[in-house]
Amino acid sequence: MARTDSSPEPSGLVRTVRFADDDVGSDAARVRRPGGRSAVAIMSSGEAGRTAPGGSAQPSSARTADPARRAGPAGTTVLAGGRVINPARGFDQVADVICADGRIRAVLPTGQAGILGQAGILGQADAAGQAGHVPPDATVIDCTGAIVTPGLIDLHTHVYPGLGDFCVHPDRAGVDVGVPVVVDAGTSGVRTFGLARAFVEGPSVRTRVLALLDPCLLYLATKDFIAHRLEIANDPRNLDLEATAATVEAHRDMIVGFKVRATVTDDPRSSPFLEGTKSIAGDLPIMIHLGRYPYTASLGNLDAISALRPGDIVTHAFRGHSGALVDDDRAVEARFAAAVEAGVRLDVGHSGADFRFAAARALIDLGYPPFTISTDLNLFNTEGPVWSLTETMSKIWALGVELTDVIAMVTSHTATAIGRADSLGTLEVGRDAEVSVLRSETGDFSFTDGFDTIRHPRRLVPVGCLRAGIWYKAREHLAGPTPAGPTQTAAVGAVHRPPRSVRQASAAASAVAAPVAPGRPTGSG
Ligand SMILES: [Zn+2]
Repeated sequence: MARTDSSPEPSGLVRTVRFADDDVGSDAARVRRPGGRSAVAIMSSGEAGRTAPGGSAQPSSARTADPARRAGPAGTTVLAGGRVINPARGFDQVADVICADGRIRAVLPTGQAGILGQAGILGQADAAGQAGHVPPDATVIDCTGAIVTPGLIDLHTHVYPGLGDFCVHPDRAGVDVGVPVVVDAGTSGVRTFGLARAFVEGPSVRTRVLALLDPCLLYLATKDFIAHRLEIANDPRNLDLEATAATVEAHRDMIVGFKVRATVTDDPRSSPFLEGTKSIAGDLPIMIHLGRYPYTASLGNLDAISALRPGDIVTHAFRGHSGALVDDDRAVEARFAAAVEAGVRLDVGHSGADFRFAAARALIDLGYPPFTISTDLNLFNTEGPVWSLTETMSKIWALGVELTDVIAMVTSHTATAIGRADSLGTLEVGRDAEVSVLRSETGDFSFTDGFDTIRHPRRLVPVGCLRAGIWYKAREHLAGPTPAGPTQTAAVGAVHRPPRSVRQASAAASAVAAPVAPGRPTGSG
């Protein structure tokens, strides 16, 4: 594999090993510590080993606990020379992100790593970022030609394998595809949540997992909708709000809201599960989905949307036949408009059958873009049509949304949606070092929503991510289908603008759109 060594940075403190184009997609990213030491391979979680910055490679057999959670990494890592896009700050320029001891220490113009005594762009560099405190053995990851963002957050995943048959390993949705933080969207109810937590904090998981809790005592997201087929998802005896509130209180560091299946009992216009959850939710958001469940009756889409509070979340919002659109996609339902106006947030939640280019294009054109982009990644859509969060981001980009907005929809917006804007979603000095590195490729790419296909000359591919300061190289082959043709890495600092307007892209989408079929059951996620 080709690798091109770069010249030392002007400061003389850091020396990088630059990714050649054919190196980025190889098994291991290359980094080099200054001083001419041997390059060390930073392996993804699925590879044979892992190296903490400043540490030594460990064989997989040595994994006894997540070092990121256990003690935090020692040493300093510099993500050097990338195009840093931090939507929360309106920041978009070439810069170095300096992290140490698992935290962000400074974000500075590239080449200033040796003079960190100056104020950082995003705030005063703290003590560890002062001149002389970037140690000569800092690990430098050359991000030239790449995009550096706050750590991506996937708001809708299913990541408790073993609870039901629906889930992927958290790292498959997370660090393996450049995403340091994922949110499990209601795979588990109350009585199994402790087991879910024990798993995601176990030795095999490197991704940070947050949770939206299903308020039922027993709920499992499964392919056969077992909680619906046995009719416990609509049995009021399955609801114990006191127990639910106690579980939330005991796990406030992990539970960031609720995922409610808005099933009904006697009154088809009101869901005791949704209303009960609202009574205990306080500031925590409630996510509902659009679409039907088999076996159990639930609120109609507009009734469900109208019952939400400001800050609550509608996932699968762009699935078509969602209750959002009327008049052949030329307008939205008044109740839908009122809910969004009041602050209800629209989430993609792609899944296998819950995202349609035509519906997304229509809603975006009408002024209803996603607030958040998420995958609904589960065992049944990882090899298409979903693949990964970056593949889903590429689809929204292809529909004409600006790249910086696309990035906001998986960083600052998502952090806001889960009430974690004070700790996630933006690059701020002193915060945990959750940082993603992406590559923007130019080529002729086709994207599928599972029904229709559109083409676009750009796509995003994960390079890797820092999670609590530890670098994980992305397993790129998991993140999307093989490109159709030769690709070219975008120039650093280039202003990425969609080459087609929303309406032009929409026209392309509608040209291939088949008539929308009546809603099909969509998996109990
Ligand atoms: Zn789901």
